[in-house]
Amino acid sequence: GGMAPPFWALRCCRCRLFQVQQVGAKRSGKWSCSVCGQRQALQKIYGQGSGPDCRHHVQKLNLLQGEAEEAIGWTPRYSV
Ligand SMILES: [Zn+2]
Repeated sequence: GGMAPPFWALRCCRCRLFQVQQVGAKRSGKWSCSVCGQRQALQKIYGQGSGPDCRHHVQKLNLLQGEAEEAIGWTPRYSV
């Protein structure tokens, strides 16, 4: 508990890759994919936590794309 987690694990709607984004930059509800550059609305947060936590989670999600739907339950608190 305590402070709000500073990072989110998000998925790009265009290239379908999971990636870590800093929460602070997402006040507009939009974010840009660091891989393909697609700017898009924030739709689903697949995980949240520290940078290393999220990076580890994102790596796992990208390895298990086919099973990603199961991973949604990781931290289901926020849905936009
Ligand atoms: Zn992308």
